[in-house]
Amino acid sequence: MLGLAALNSSAERRTAIPGRSATVSENLNNILANSHPLSDIARKVVDQTRLTREDGLRLYASDDIEAVGTIADHARRQKAGTGKERWVYYNHNMHLNPTNFCVETCRFCSYANPGLSGNTSYTWTVDRVLEEAGKGVKLGIKEIHMVGGLNPACDINYYEDVLRSLKREFPHVHLKAMTAVEIEYLANLEGISYQEALERLISAGLGSMPGGGAEIFDEAVRERMAVKKTPAPVWLEIHGIAHKLGIHTNATMLTGISETVENKVDHLLLLRDQQDKSGGFQCFIPLKCYYEGTNIQSEVTEPTAEDLLKDVAVSRLLLDNFDHIKAYWIQLGEKIAQMAFSFGADDMDGTILEEKITHAAGAKTPLQLAKERIEFLISSSGYVPVERDTVYNVLNVGECPRTTPSTEHLKELVGAR
Ligand code: SF4
Repeated sequence: MLGLAALNSSAERRTAIPGRSATVSENLNNILANSHPLSDIARKVVDQTRLTREDGLRLYASDDIEAVGTIADHARRQKAGTGKERWVYYNHNMHLNPTNFCVETCRFCSYANPGLSGNTSYTWTVDRVLEEAGKGVKLGIKEIHMVGGLNPACDINYYEDVLRSLKREFPHVHLKAMTAVEIEYLANLEGISYQEALERLISAGLGSMPGGGAEIFDEAVRERMAVKKTPAPVWLEIHGIAHKLGIHTNATMLTGISETVENKVDHLLLLRDQQDKSGGFQCFIPLKCYYEGTNIQSEVTEPTAEDLLKDVAVSRLLLDNFDHIKAYWIQLGEKIAQMAFSFGADDMDGTILEEKITHAAGAKTPLQLAKERIEFLISSSGYVPVERDTVYNVLNVGECPRTTPSTEHLKELVGAR
């Protein structure tokens, strides 16, 4: 377990603030030069040599989280390129969840499991979807992130109608929608191929796909958690088809559902292999399970803040072919998300109007953050806030922060654990 003083000190050293990058380099040089147990891995990262499964397991097993973070921080800077080492991206977006009715009963899901959580089922009409979207558009959102349950009442015609109507009313808004799980369900419901389902939705306005529904690819964990949907080969195949059809997608991994570190490393390596083949993933998002409204808490170990930061760091190091790693503030909370910037994350997700899925399971984070708040969280950590669109076109580069985070601020960050 890392002591407060050590993490405080490491966060201070790794925070990328003007005039202190030499200290960051010194930290890495110490790992490289001394007989540090991770020096060979650090050397591979500096030389841009691909890490192995064994390397991933050693990173997870290391009790030197400061070193793991330092190596991931170097990989992040290397990937960002000159002049962008301190950039942290965010976007101005909203979430829409047109239905929470679902034919599946994944045990970790409170959102679409009314029997356990006490939620009531709902299904929005196309007009209601437009009404909700309109609220976000008035606030200036540039992206709609839309996912929902697997509901036979919402067939592919419904989603074509939703996407077309959104595009007609709000042509400037990017529609990032439909997980691989929903694509699989719609294709099976209609008796059509995954490719045909995707082609129809793209032609209706689908701009890109989120990364949800991957959960953990390991079959034994899925069986324990009653995950019957979209096994790994299907999830990866659907993303591969989407990439072939010319749209970008994201990828996720859900932790805290009784998985082992081996399961996590293998999950990341399957994503890396798929990215080698199809190349269309733009961002990886480590996710944490929330348990309220589920009955799994006695069977699982809740990830600690250090576990979550390690997921960020190890994914940055193993996923050498992914440009972006996200610190999803909705799940991590503001303070751990800020720390994650020093562990390899370079994206904070978006402003998010009305997040429902994680909050149905007990997340206490706000339902949305103002753009100004996100910019403050990034810049007060010593990073440069960069507003992006969904596919990482840069819309606005914020002020380069001039101040060093105070010791009090860093203590507060560590206190978030
Ligand atoms: S996780 Fe997805 S597929 Fe599983 S019950 Fe929830 S909404 Fe349905």
